[in-house]
Order: sequence, then structure tokens, then C-alpha cells
Amino acid sequence: MARYNGPVCRLCRRDGLKLFLKGSRCDTPKCAIERRDVPPGMNNARRGKLTDYGVQLREKQKLKHYFGVLERQFRGYFQRATRTKGNTGNTLLSLLERRLDNVVHRLGFGQSRAQARQLIAHGHITVNGKFVNIPSYSLRVGDVIRVKNRPKSLQLVQANMSQRRGSVPDYVSYIDGGIPEGHFMRLPDEHDFSLPVQTQLIVELC
Ligand code: SF4
Repeated sequence: MARYNGPVCRLCRRDGLKLFLKGSRCDTPKCAIERRDVPPGMNNARRGKLTDYGVQLREKQKLKHYFGVLERQFRGYFQRATRTKGNTGNTLLSLLERRLDNVVHRLGFGQSRAQARQLIAHGHITVNGKFVNIPSYSLRVGDVIRVKNRPKSLQLVQANMSQRRGSVPDYVSYIDGGIPEGHFMRLPDEHDFSLPVQTQLIVELC
């Protein structure tokens, strides 16, 4: 029987989808989803079909787990999305994608969003030359995200970047002039988002 792989992998198994929450491990055969492609628990076979509410809730949980946001924060993002013109679901995705911890991860500075949050909280990242220790900081077009110019920060980030998975998204440009940095070029849209999630169901639920 597969060994329990910690609370993070449990979220992927519950959502039945790879959420890539554990950095480089997610690409190895050690991934809990690869090893055992069923939700956790002893009585899975007896679980019935999900109700409409259950399906909507699962989509919301998927998004929350992927970005590592809690319910209260998520509600805040949703309210901002409803106040903005345009498709609420796409705006919600864009707001979440603009989070500093997400962009630091997608630039490859952190192997996972959780690690990116830690890098930010420990002062390894600056925005426009200023120290920012808020992982949820919402980036604006033109912002420059740079690794702090000190040996410990550079070593840490370069080690992570050597294991970077996937490519840098189009909305940010990566420049390595000795100190790794990224330029936030435009607001992300639904095409920049790779997680298969039905935002319409989340909007109906919320
Ligand atoms: Fe765990 Fe990553 Fe696999 Fe999810 S994708 S189950 S976080 S190893």
C-alpha cells in the first residue's frame, strides 16, 4: 500500500488533480497522485456521485489549494473580481495570478508557491528595489521583481532555478544580468493559467 505522503499531497489526492505543491518532487514517480490515483480514505469505492454543490465546491477548493489562499482571502479576491468590469471568473484568475508569491514561483525563483512565500517572508525578494515581505502583494504592470543582492539569496534562488519546471509565462519577462530579475509586462489573462478549473462553477457557488 502507498505510504501517506504528507498533508500537501493529500490536497492533490482529494481534488484528484496534480496541483504541483511540492516543487521538484511533483515531477518524479514519488508523486502521490502517480503512485495512487484515488482520493485518500478507506471507503473510496463507496463514495457516491458528487452533488452539483459538491462539484462547485471542489472547483473552488482546487483554486484555493493551487494558490495557497485561505477562505477569507479568497472571498476578498472574489469580491474584488465582482466589482471589476468583465468576466468575473477570468478576473478572479488574473487577481490570483498577480500575487507576488505566484510570480516568484513562475519565474523559477522558488520551486513551489509555498517556497516562494518563504523566500518573500525571509526578505530575499525586492519589488522596484524596495524590500517587500508580503506574499499576497498584487503586482502592477511595470513592476520589477529582483532577488536581493546578497550571496545567501542568490545561492538559494540559483539552486532553485536549476530545477525550474516549465517555462516563464508571457506576462513576465525574465532577465539574468547577474542578479535574476523579472519584469511584470502585462496583466495575466485566462490563457496564462494552466490549471483546468471551471471558474463559472465557482462564480455560481460564491
Ligand atoms: Fe504531492 Fe506534488 Fe504529486 Fe501533488 S503533484 S501529489 S503536491 S508530489
